[in-house]
Amino acid sequence: MPKSLANAIAGAKCPKCRDGNMFPVSPFSYRKLTVIHSQCAVCGADFVPEPGFYDGAMYINYAFSVALMVTSLVAINVLVAKPELWMYLSSVMGLTLFLMPAMLRYSKTLYLYGVGKLKYRGF
Ligand SMILES: [Zn+2]
Repeated sequence: MPKSLANAIAGAKCPKCRDGNMFPVSPFSYRKLTVIHSQCAVCGADFVPEPGFYDGAMYINYAFSVALMVTSLVAINVLVAKPELWMYLSSVMGLTLFLMPAMLRYSKTLYLYGVGKLKYRGF
């Protein structure tokens, strides 16, 4: 059964076979935050084409952070009648901490899908 691109990205799967995992743990786990498999356990695709390949993923991570910040600022303005500074700060910091593992991993996942040369080969 062919896997959809959205499902493969959401599950942080290998871009080539959409079956192997890119990370040894779940995208939301706080363990092994920086660990990424060097190649796909299922099809052998190279997840790290060159040293420092994922340096560029930091821009995606930055975009995630900005989006998160804007979203929480807007949400607080809508939900709270008289927002105070500490509300902004604590919600942005709390959400960032909470979502940090997912943002780190999905920025790498999107980067590999967008910049990597791996094309999907269904079976
Ligand atoms: Zn694979």
